Amino acid sequence: MTVMPRPSILSVEPYVGGESKVPGVNRIIKLSSNEGAFGPPPGAIAAITQAAKEAHRYPDGGATALREAIGARFGLDPARIVCGNGSDEILTLLILAYGGEGTEIVMSAHGFLMYDLAGRWAGCRVIKVPEKDLRADVDGLLAAVGPRTKLLFLANPNNPTGSILPQSELVRLRRGLPGDVLLVLDSAYAEYVTKPDYDPGQALVDAGDNTVMTRTFSKIYGLGGMRLGWCYAPANVVDVLGRVRGPFNVSGAAMVAGIAALAEPGWIEASVAHNTEWRGKVAAALEAAGLKVWPSEGNFLLVDFGVAERAKAADAHLRSRGLIVRAMGSYGLAPCLRITIGTAEECQMVIEALGEFTRNG
Ligand code: PMP
Repeated sequence: MTVMPRPSILSVEPYVGGESKVPGVNRIIKLSSNEGAFGPPPGAIAAITQAAKEAHRYPDGGATALREAIGARFGLDPARIVCGNGSDEILTLLILAYGGEGTEIVMSAHGFLMYDLAGRWAGCRVIKVPEKDLRADVDGLLAAVGPRTKLLFLANPNNPTGSILPQSELVRLRRGLPGDVLLVLDSAYAEYVTKPDYDPGQALVDAGDNTVMTRTFSKIYGLGGMRLGWCYAPANVVDVLGRVRGPFNVSGAAMVAGIAALAEPGWIEASVAHNTEWRGKVAAALEAAGLKVWPSEGNFLLVDFGVAERAKAADAHLRSRGLIVRAMGSYGLAPCLRITIGTAEECQMVIEALGEFTRNG
């Protein structure tokens, strides 16, 4: 006899990510995880260095100073903010608290992978709703909600498709949900959005007691390696998260790095401007080279090569030049590659490499 986990655990493939080497290639440019183009803000680097001197101390389990800094920056009540070891942890804790065996969670077919993963860890049935043109379908999502549904996840903008729903559609989604289903609006890429009629979710959280907005320091704030995320939630959900959260779930270094990053709005603004400029330039260049690029409001582009073999060949070509991008087979989008918007030089390299690839057939 062997000790066995719950059956749904074995349906999950172990995660192998963060690939950073290509045999025979010296200079690697990683554009596969939607990390900030410019690294951490300078103030955050100084804060992390300083925090190292206190590394023997447990951090503040309540993340008080960080919650206050987030509250001040976004005009939110710090008592309604919960911080986590990346927003991944918050998403997982929500499923742990509200989901479990015998329950269902609803998401878009090409929604963020973490909902499916954490749903399976918890033994939930995960219902994936087809999109329309890779854009979440509010009517389909609502139609998939049944008596066992406990959570509905929507990333806005969505990773990996880059698509967003306007605020009016989000309001319709929330209004259409039964009061005992938690709507989780994952706004990891909120800062990059340039379209009007967009709200990361604050207004919807304030409108009731069953909507949560999750955010991250991993993208525009350049702190993916620190693992820092947060959510803004109604008081009832804050109470529940307080019960399932580990006592010291956010490190001291992550907390001071987050506070320092929030104190550099100019740096963030410049990063957003860079992303808007180069997202447009890369998309236009790849389209001019004959490739289909899905419209994106994030810091990445989903590039469609039509068939899986061609995407694979393009991936190999990019790799031979040291450019690591994300293959999309695990998302059920094998004909596509997802490419993060890096520095100007990195973007130029992508444009040149894919131009060369398309010219050579
Ligand atoms: N949500 C979405 C949509 C994401 O793309 C990511 C990062 N890949 C996350 C959440 C998780 O971010 P983190 O755990 O680094 O905060």
